[in-house]
Amino acid sequence: MKPIIIIGAGLAGYTVAREFRKLDKTSPLIMITEDSGGYYSKPMLSNAFAHGKQAEQLITHSATQMAEQLAITLMPHTRVNGIDTAAKTVDTSSGKYEFEKLVLAVGAQAIHLGLKGDAANQVLSVNHIADYAVFRARINSPKNATPVRVAILGAGLIGCEFADDLTGAGHAVTLIDPSNRPLAALTAPALSAGLQAALLARGVRFHFGTVAETVTHAATDLCVTLADGTTVEADVVLSAVGLRPDLRLAHAAQLKTGRGIVIDTSGQTSAADIYALGDCAEYTSLADGSTRTLPYIMPIMTAGRAIARTLSGERTEIDLKPSPVLIKTPSFPLALIPPAPHIVATGRWLDETTETGRSISRFYDANDVLEGFGVSPHDNAIRQELLAGLGQKA
Ligand code: FAD
Repeated sequence: MKPIIIIGAGLAGYTVAREFRKLDKTSPLIMITEDSGGYYSKPMLSNAFAHGKQAEQLITHSATQMAEQLAITLMPHTRVNGIDTAAKTVDTSSGKYEFEKLVLAVGAQAIHLGLKGDAANQVLSVNHIADYAVFRARINSPKNATPVRVAILGAGLIGCEFADDLTGAGHAVTLIDPSNRPLAALTAPALSAGLQAALLARGVRFHFGTVAETVTHAATDLCVTLADGTTVEADVVLSAVGLRPDLRLAHAAQLKTGRGIVIDTSGQTSAADIYALGDCAEYTSLADGSTRTLPYIMPIMTAGRAIARTLSGERTEIDLKPSPVLIKTPSFPLALIPPAPHIVATGRWLDETTETGRSISRFYDANDVLEGFGVSPHDNAIRQELLAGLGQKA
């Protein structure tokens, strides 16, 4: 019997494996990953400093433990270089393997900015635990005086979370972003203002409405020169400008791609018996057939369950329900349902501050239908109440 092969040992790969094993205890399952295969929760990477966690402390289960627990053949440190969709084989750094069905869970890659300067190659990004280990070592380098000065390029979810986390651990952060506010692509100006005020109170400095152009070596540290001519001295520069689905294997195999690997409502790619999910995938909505990437945990859980069921023989639709993204900024904890990008220009935000001081912003589209929200602080009850209102008229 040919195996099911899963490429990738992130949350997406492991969720499919775990859900599949609940349905089928014996069919052969191979997981191939170019990393070590240890299991960790990636969202922990942007709040591990304040908790004083080293990279290895974030790995809750080793590759060996995971292989045993899920009864899978795990091939760590093995890169898949190509897929033959007709012959149903994958070509890897350790040979060729046949598959019955294949799951692509290859994640995303950090976007590189094309910065100039003799220290442009010193700019770090954190999308995997190995990146976090390098970042942490750089912060903790004995050459740095305390507080360590960190320039973060990008004030989106990851940039803001790191800013809060690093200042919580006593470091000095400067946030740089072309927008005029943090989380500009995700939430209302009023909530961005609340977050900015909270981060300012933590000591974060901001350079908004401009971008980093050059990173050079200074005497003992790095110097970031911005497009507006300002210079920012830093010991460490972190780029958090976003991630791009990893399409390399999909392109080589001529699978249909958009921003991500396009999958139908059951998670299948344009090739029979080849599925995808997680940060590499572009999901198709059951409701209206539109497609979009959803680089968050909750869609992985939903898609992982459905794809596992389909792999076990019962075609199952991925029913993605709206689920708030929780921004891990303890100084201003936010829960968000961002409105879809194409309706932002034609809708409006309505802001409210409740008697208890809670900030709520609701996004209404051109037809006055609630299509997004943000709330801080948040709890389960308020999130559920706001979720229940989605799709309803004002
Ligand atoms: P990855 O975890 O990137 O896994 C990809 C896997 O594929 C890796 O094992 C890699 O080695 C393997 N691989 C890739 N190419 C190959 C190849 N050719 N051959 C073999 N193996 C290959 N989401 C939330 O919902 N809430 C949060 O609070 C949140 N916080 C976050 C904080 C940070 C710092 C980051 C970076 C992300 C955060 N996210 C959060 C997003 C969330 O963590 C991701 O959506 C999720 O972890 C992606 O999992 P994945 O398995 O798709 O990808």
